[in-house]
Amino acid sequence: MQEKFDIVVVGAGLVGLTAALACAKKGAKVCILDQKKPNIKEDKRASAISASSFVLLKKLGVTDFLVGNIQAIDKILISDSRVGRKNKFNLKFQNLNHANYKGYMIDNSILKNALLKMVKKIDGITIKAPVKILKTSTNSSKIKINLDNNSIIDASLLVAADGKNSNFRKSADISVRFTHYRQSAIVTTIGHEFVHNGSAHQFFFPGGPLALLPLTKNRSSIVWSDSSLASDAAMSLNDSDFIDELSHRINGLLGKIKLLGPRQIFPLNLQMANRYTAKRLVLVGDAAHSIHPIAGQGLNLGLRDAAALADNVALSIRENIDLGSEVIQEYEKWRISDNNKLGITTDILNRLFSNKNSSLRFVRRLGLNGVNHSELLKTFFIEEASGLTGELPTLMIEN
Ligand SMILES: Cc1cc2nc3c(=O)[nH]c(=O)nc-3n(C[C@H](O)[C@H](O)[C@H](O)COP(=O)(O)OP(=O)(O)OC[C@H]3O[C@@H](n4cnc5c(N)ncnc54)[C@H](O)[C@@H]3O)c2cc1C
Repeated sequence: MQEKFDIVVVGAGLVGLTAALACAKKGAKVCILDQKKPNIKEDKRASAISASSFVLLKKLGVTDFLVGNIQAIDKILISDSRVGRKNKFNLKFQNLNHANYKGYMIDNSILKNALLKMVKKIDGITIKAPVKILKTSTNSSKIKINLDNNSIIDASLLVAADGKNSNFRKSADISVRFTHYRQSAIVTTIGHEFVHNGSAHQFFFPGGPLALLPLTKNRSSIVWSDSSLASDAAMSLNDSDFIDELSHRINGLLGKIKLLGPRQIFPLNLQMANRYTAKRLVLVGDAAHSIHPIAGQGLNLGLRDAAALADNVALSIRENIDLGSEVIQEYEKWRISDNNKLGITTDILNRLFSNKNSSLRFVRRLGLNGVNHSELLKTFFIEEASGLTGELPTLMIEN
């Protein structure tokens, strides 16, 4: 069987599904391929969703499936910490309920489920998973994909949303800049005695940041980054010892805490592709960039890739230009500088905060306190974190 689409998205992760929805909304006929059957339960992370990403999810109809599962972030409290010291928050962002800046926390499993539900509702999208791609070949007018179920797909463009180990990036010979942080993040969800009141906490310890992020139903998501050695040791603790260690680090901030699910560990690195395009191919999401979770922005960048790609797709449909032509170079130009800027920022933040150097500690405390006393600087940082700076794709502009 041979089928024809405008776009094939490889990877049914959060970014691939969003890219498919965004491109279909702009009129493209899309096919999503994944090597695995979509599993909403395997990812135990939750994501901080910026204001602009939330607009995108709303415009794509995804938020209709998220009702009751979205936790607004009302406050962000940041502490330059040492284990066993009393909590002192050096930088506080309060009253974040201003509509423009509102950020949210959503469990990745719930978000993926909502995206899949929306994908199934849209006539212009076909999803095939699990399926194996045996071969791809390109010519001047299309890309041809041979699947292991004997079918063949023709498309004008392949969107590689196949994650940080992207095979499509590798086979297109796109090099990456890579920094190994020798850190890992342990992720889990906890329940707690005291209400979180929508507060997100970030404790900067010398080994790495520990984030305590509010979720619905009085739960919190933990992202505990530390040296790979310390993270492996914390992973090997039994549940009760792990909870004791965590309580000690957050100084009983939320009262008694308990684990609500398993722990997952993620090795951390910075990986930035040097190009986002090749012949009839574009990279989106972690296939193009994978950054430290210190600022909770990796997915937000991927969602912005998806929305920017959709604008370029709309242009090529409107002007009747080949999707695989220079239109995708425009996408690359737009996204690569934006993503590199955030990649560098998160890298600097991690280097500045994840160390024991006492002079650096002095400088960063001065910096945190300085920002804390300047409304102008606070607004600048919140606008950046909300994804409201730079050229916004149309699907991310509220109207
Ligand atoms: C600890 C941690 C916390 C984070 N917290 C946040 C946060 O708060 N906010 C935020 O914005 N970001 C956050 N991030 C980043 C975010 O989770 C990622 O950027 C995002 O999940 C990447 O999604 P993706 O769809 O690009 O890739 P993936 O989720 O890796 O999806 C790739 C998909 O491609 C499929 N695939 C792979 N190879 C093939 C193939 N050959 N053929 C077919 N299919 C294939 C896979 O099966 C998978 O479904 C965090 C990251 C970490 C590690």
